Amino acid sequence: MSEHFDLVVIGAGPAGEKGAAQAAYFGKSVCLVERSPKPGGAAVNTGTIPAATLRESAMQLSGLRRKGLYGVEFHVQPDLSVADFMQRERQVIESAWHDIEENLARHHITTVQGAARFTGPQALEVTRHGNDGRSISGDIFLIATGTHPWRPDDVPFDGHVVIDSTDVPRLPRIPPRLIVVGGGTIGATYACIFAALGSSVTIVNARPRLLAQFEPEVSDAMRREFTRRLGIHVLLDTQVTRIDTQAGLGYVTVADGTTLVADCVLYCAGREGNTAELGLENAGIATNARGFIAVDEHYRTSTTHIYAAGDVIGAPGRASTSMEQARVAMCHAFGLRYKQAVSSVIPYGVWTIPEVATVGMSEQEARARGLSCEIGMAGLQHNARGQILGETTGFVKLVFGRDDQRLLGATIVGEGACEIIHTASAVLAHHGTLDYFIQAVFSFPSLSEAYKYAAYDGLQRVQKRIAESGGLAERPTVDGGR
Ligand SMILES: Cc1cc2nc3c(=O)[nH]c(=O)nc-3n(C[C@H](O)[C@H](O)[C@H](O)COP(=O)(O)OP(=O)(O)OC[C@H]3O[C@@H](n4cnc5c(N)ncnc54)[C@H](O)[C@@H]3O)c2cc1C
Repeated sequence: MSEHFDLVVIGAGPAGEKGAAQAAYFGKSVCLVERSPKPGGAAVNTGTIPAATLRESAMQLSGLRRKGLYGVEFHVQPDLSVADFMQRERQVIESAWHDIEENLARHHITTVQGAARFTGPQALEVTRHGNDGRSISGDIFLIATGTHPWRPDDVPFDGHVVIDSTDVPRLPRIPPRLIVVGGGTIGATYACIFAALGSSVTIVNARPRLLAQFEPEVSDAMRREFTRRLGIHVLLDTQVTRIDTQAGLGYVTVADGTTLVADCVLYCAGREGNTAELGLENAGIATNARGFIAVDEHYRTSTTHIYAAGDVIGAPGRASTSMEQARVAMCHAFGLRYKQAVSSVIPYGVWTIPEVATVGMSEQEARARGLSCEIGMAGLQHNARGQILGETTGFVKLVFGRDDQRLLGATIVGEGACEIIHTASAVLAHHGTLDYFIQAVFSFPSLSEAYKYAAYDGLQRVQKRIAESGGLAERPTVDGGR
């Protein structure tokens, strides 16, 4: 006999958990099906939290934060395994599991462990370790099954020498030499972490820029930092033609015939939707070639009582947006006017070394749209807190309308970038202008104070342009800002 719920959610990652809690909060009966023994999905178990915790440990244990500040060089003890660093990660993950389980229990959500598969548009079969399926039906479904790393057939993944990002937390040791194939978010993040831990790292990127979702100025700054500060060897515009293993080593051959050798090859060239085993054909839902599900603006699939949210619907593929998409989807599904759309102001932060974060439009994007815009820059080496932290190259960059000084976007490189970007998010969300930064009192010494000087710089640039064009400076009058 089938058990029936108002809502059945598949996947207990950020999207599944928050979608389930949203509906349950408003009194719906909810069943959450998760194939893994523990909740949290990629965010808690294999992606965000392990990477962020490993980064934090690398920053602390490598002394990278302190390097050069006290005239003392710090080095990571040789022969440390990733697991040594992962002790802290384990504690953080266990706390996250506990918090999620408590949240689900508090909302009286029924949890079922097993792999879910549609047997029809209104019903699932859930199997565990090949045991007989349990039938679950629902009025509404939320597919929140996430993604897994793309594994091309010609790459000999073995979990030790040739690995993907899910293998990183299980690495037996820090590889003395590491080749990272892919210079996107995940590849760049792990390249930095391992370089900080003492690995000799080479990034091979098929694209002409690292972190290509950022504007060229940022990609260039990041590449300089990777090379100068971390000693990473960066190969751009370079196609990998072959990956082999031999005698415990990885060999990566690139288009010009050069073969690179390393103890470990980390392959990070995109992700695919976890949809192949969902029986979507039984529910009338198709996917694209990468296994992603198409949805409308309410996160409805082509079968309208089945919603999908999070990484399984494709970009931007962030925990932050996954949670919000699922909440919005469930509000729509149950006619709750509580939350109707995901905010258009989406901060995008990457915990590389240094951190980089952006929100709103880049200068490049604003100009491509034909907007009359100006920028304001402040280097963190001139910021008191930045000086204390030993920042030498980080910056805050603001993009704003030249005529009305309305903020269009912000990009920050450097320590704390992923935190302080939220000030720009708030100003953007409230359609604020540079005046906010000019008038605001920022704690001193704080990295956030750099916003004020970026705003002053922006206003000076506007004045300069007016002066150069022979016009009168109508607004604003600034005193140089410092
Ligand atoms: C290395 C790395 C670093 C990252 N860093 C960041 C970051 O700094 N910030 C950020 O915002 N995002 C980051 N991300 C992305 C983030 O992890 C994802 O965006 C987020 O986890 C997506 O949430 P989700 O709920 O859509 O899917 P997932 O977290 O992937 O969860 C999906 C769940 O569905 C379950 N499932 C799948 N199929 C079935 C089935 N048939 N039956 C039952 N259960 C099933 C899976 O077991 C899993 O638990 C990172 C990712 C990686 C890999």
